[in-house]
Amino acid sequence: MIDPFGRAITYLRVSVTDRCDFRCVYCMSEDMEFLPKSDLLSLEEMERLCAAFIRQGVTRLRLTGGEPLVRRDVMRLIERLGARLGDGLDELTLTTNGSQLARHAAGLVRAGMRRINVSIDTLDAEKFAAITRWGKLPAVLDGVMAAKQAGLAVKINAVALRGVNEHEFDGMIAFCGQHGFDLCLIETMPLGETGIDRNEHYLPLSTVRAGLARNWTLTPSAYATGGPARYFDIAETGRRLGLITPLTHNFCEGCNRVRLTCTGTLYMCLGQDDAADLRTPLRRSSDDSALDAAIMSAIARKPKGHDFIIDRDHARPALTRHMSVTGG
Ligand code: SAM
Ligand code: SF4
Repeated sequence: MIDPFGRAITYLRVSVTDRCDFRCVYCMSEDMEFLPKSDLLSLEEMERLCAAFIRQGVTRLRLTGGEPLVRRDVMRLIERLGARLGDGLDELTLTTNGSQLARHAAGLVRAGMRRINVSIDTLDAEKFAAITRWGKLPAVLDGVMAAKQAGLAVKINAVALRGVNEHEFDGMIAFCGQHGFDLCLIETMPLGETGIDRNEHYLPLSTVRAGLARNWTLTPSAYATGGPARYFDIAETGRRLGLITPLTHNFCEGCNRVRLTCTGTLYMCLGQDDAADLRTPLRRSSDDSALDAAIMSAIARKPKGHDFIIDRDHARPALTRHMSVTGG
């Protein structure tokens, strides 16, 4: 699948649920309303959609959410998708908040998963509780250690928040170095009302990097995962630091991905509203030709990029859709 700007679309992110057991301040409001369960695709329908994308050239799948591991029986989907590894699919991964990871880590490896991303914004338990509203850091750290034990490569994702975790990244680099994890810092993106002012928390990673360079030797790395992060090798730990800078550095040029929601809506860009309904062609017939055509016509409309801005004049979200809908 080649989009109008010549980009090959080989990566699909699938949000398996919009629900979550946390309420991170930058992601959701405390009284977030979720879709009625009857609106969700079944796991079998999700598998069929994923299979259609694999048939059309997607080689990497990432499951996300909401929190993917809170969806009932999600391991069944993971096992079914894992069975496609080596048969058109090169990689199956997961982005998780880690709350349920301790009991699922070994199963993920059995299903063929090799690496996962775990979101942890701070290693301070009190601050973690404040950021996630409902999360408990010890359970997440147990999950991360279970993942390491099971043999999964772990990348820790942290959203950089001014006045919240901005002085913790040295400690997080040291923690990740000690355990053999990579660390990826993400700028906040203006998606959905969350009840907080994003101006207040927006922290450009150019500033963070300059601060980190005082304590760590950061060398630009040739490493790339096909994602929007730019990587640096950290000489002192032998691990990598990734920076995802949607606002200070346009990350759209090399975009290779599209995003599927748990209701079968395909978003061609995280930062634009245009979407394609794949549920209707999926349900209309057991023959996949209409579904394949709907996917091709959606890719033909993939926009060039997002228009995120955060500054004093743009305090409102760029999009009303929350990150938990499209899965980040
Ligand atoms: N619940 C899982 C988790 O937290 O890893 C998966 C879904 S979550 C929406 C995916 C990623 O998006 C997380 O790393 C989260 O920190 C990030 N995220 C959520 N809202 C964001 C925002 N407004 N700006 C930047 N990143 C955001
Ligand atoms: Fe849940 Fe992930 Fe959003 Fe936090 S960032 S509220 S863990 S979906």
